[in-house]
Amino acid sequence: MRFVDEYRDEAAARRYAELLRGLATRPWTLMEVCGGQTHAIVKFGIDELLPADVTLVHGPGCPVCVTPLEMIEKALEIASLPDVTFCSFGDMLRVPGRDRDLQSVKAEGGDVRIVYSPLDAVRLARQHPDRQVVFFAVGFETTAPANAMAVFQAAALRLANFSLLVSHVLVPPAMEAILAAPGCRVQGFLAAGHVCAVMGYREYRPLAEKYRVPIVVTGFEPLDILEGIYLCVRQLEEGRAEVENQYARAVREEGNRPARALVTDVFEIAARKWRGVGEIPSSGLRLRERYAAFDAERRFGVADRSVEEPTECISGLVLQGQAKPGDCPAFAGRCTPEHPLGATMVSSEGACAAYHRYRRLAVGTGP
Ligand code: SF4
Repeated sequence: MRFVDEYRDEAAARRYAELLRGLATRPWTLMEVCGGQTHAIVKFGIDELLPADVTLVHGPGCPVCVTPLEMIEKALEIASLPDVTFCSFGDMLRVPGRDRDLQSVKAEGGDVRIVYSPLDAVRLARQHPDRQVVFFAVGFETTAPANAMAVFQAAALRLANFSLLVSHVLVPPAMEAILAAPGCRVQGFLAAGHVCAVMGYREYRPLAEKYRVPIVVTGFEPLDILEGIYLCVRQLEEGRAEVENQYARAVREEGNRPARALVTDVFEIAARKWRGVGEIPSSGLRLRERYAAFDAERRFGVADRSVEEPTECISGLVLQGQAKPGDCPAFAGRCTPEHPLGATMVSSEGACAAYHRYRRLAVGTGP
């Protein structure tokens, strides 16, 4: 396939691995931020191609995985109401709450629908004025523009029966939380290319300078990832800590200005909880006060719900690069994609699900 095959060329991948073998003179630990990159790394065996001195740990970049349990519980509570049509992308339906998921609410008769865009939910609200239509707005900076557009349209149409359950998180504050944590072993980052396609990469420069870490904006195909690793290790070997853009075919320094302007109009920065990690200051988005009428938490009175995370699942450590899925005693035993205990086993971008699919027989060693 054009624009895909050329980024999966095996001979070129082996050349990158050879270059890295000649480049790395001591151990380096890098973190890929995005769950899509994690999936590609495990699927294509990129980590197994690398020299022993270069270790990859997996970051918090799967939006399904980091959505906190209490937000899942809020979704379940709202979706169970008789006059609500609850809309979500399909990957949220099997994320476990305390004792059920959205799929089981649907099976019990709840009106839970999979949509492919938040604008589909706006359309449903127009078609069914007798129903309260709620869209589960989960994700990083990548999905924020479409969710902002949905609210913008609903406001323009004066829809009184549309709202968003917002659980938006932002990548740079999570990277800073990882870097500031005691015992952090991450020495360089592969930043998520699609996030930077929206937001640009200027906001990473203060992080690179403050923590002396190279940050390479990286794409998702095997050769993208290998080039990102190469650029990161080259900086480390040369004692540099800069922001570089490997994914120049999709990312500009300033990002997508109209998309950013729309997000800023509709949302403001706020503290957010991350599943397994806890609250990180200024790490998420919430609706601005002028769009408060579209806030499902306020509309349905669930804003104050609080739920403790179960201690058995160590996905918080996995998401911070402090453990790998095989370190979890429940991996592939009590926790499988069919019966997930934690969100990192549900989403195809989750590290546990990726290891279960591609490495089940090989895991067992820590990072
Ligand atoms: S294997 Fe399951 S229980 Fe263990 S960390 Fe992953 S999601 Fe959590």
